[in-house]
Amino acid sequence: MAKKVILTGDRPTGKLHLGHYVGSLRNRVRLQNSGEYDVYVFIADLQALTDNARNPEKIKNSLKEVALDYLAAGLDPKKTTIFVQSQIPELTELTIHYMNLVTVARLKRNPTIKTEINLRGFGEAVPIGFLNYPVSQAADITAFKAHYVPVGEDQLPLIEQCREIVHSFNSLYGEVLRMPEIMLEENDACKRLPGTDGKAKMSKSLGNCIYLSDDSETVRKKIMGMYTDPNHIRIEDPGCVEDNAVFTYLDAFCKEEHFKKYLSEYKNLDELKDHYRRGGLGDVKVKKFLYQVIEELLQPMREKRAYYEEHLDQVYEMLEEGSKKARVEARDTLDKVRKAIGINYFDKM
Ligand code: ATP
Ligand code: MG
Repeated sequence: MAKKVILTGDRPTGKLHLGHYVGSLRNRVRLQNSGEYDVYVFIADLQALTDNARNPEKIKNSLKEVALDYLAAGLDPKKTTIFVQSQIPELTELTIHYMNLVTVARLKRNPTIKTEINLRGFGEAVPIGFLNYPVSQAADITAFKAHYVPVGEDQLPLIEQCREIVHSFNSLYGEVLRMPEIMLEENDACKRLPGTDGKAKMSKSLGNCIYLSDDSETVRKKIMGMYTDPNHIRIEDPGCVEDNAVFTYLDAFCKEEHFKKYLSEYKNLDELKDHYRRGGLGDVKVKKFLYQVIEELLQPMREKRAYYEEHLDQVYEMLEEGSKKARVEARDTLDKVRKAIGINYFDKM
């Protein structure tokens, strides 16, 4: 039986951070290694240009950084097709066809887009390309006939938009496109990891990130400076673990084996939380533990990254190969779409 298809990507607007890792990247590596899926992962440079058109250098540079982050985090080009969005022109034509099925009003109502327009201060001066990126994202997902899209919770409205497009297209022109499903992490902390400032989402645009490529000292400083419970002033004060980013990170990253290794006076996270709630447990101790947990994750990534930084030719070769392979699949979908619409005038009878 044919394998189920997984597709997901990232905007090259900077390096990848812990939010990307728990929200999506870690899962991709797992799915890739299970051998049960065809996995496509892409760098969404066209989407990144929709709000960075005046700064293409940033996108070009971040493309390299994201590719390095992928390899460092364990994506393997032998198992996963890693490609670059702009190198697949078929995606752009698919976008054009889907644009006719979506209204401007609908795009403006999309809660993720609304938040992002506000964050960027676009107002009515929002570039058409930016407003349209959910449509282009639908082209990415459908071109590869994805069954599942593993992403963070912020992407829910975008996947919903894609599903609406698939529904409209198939109703109009026949069952051509596959209906995708979102694949969310079960762990709430992973669906939307907060920033080090305690804000709702770790995000490049908010500058509250721990990057996968941060060096050890930078990670230490960021963690030691993290937001916790503002009412937990003295060690003996009872503390709150909800809305406390340090504990949310532990929810996302720590396993029982970490306690054995670094903090053996507690059996597990529940015990640590109970002590914090009762009072008598200081922030510094919890932060030091978190630092060790995160370091255990990031140190091997730094080593892999350093290797590929020295072998950039291999990185670009991988992207080129992946893009060639991905293009064949996108071409197949575009041919079917053209035929369904009836603009395949010159096909041989
Ligand atoms: P930008 O600010 O440029 O939009 P971003 O940090 O939001 O960048 P994206 O490239 O938009 O990153 O997101 C890539 C993937 O990572 C998406 O699947 C998204 O849901 C997921 N993701 C991003 N931030 C988080 C987070 N804090 N927690 C969980 N998942 C996240
Ligand atoms: Mg984003």
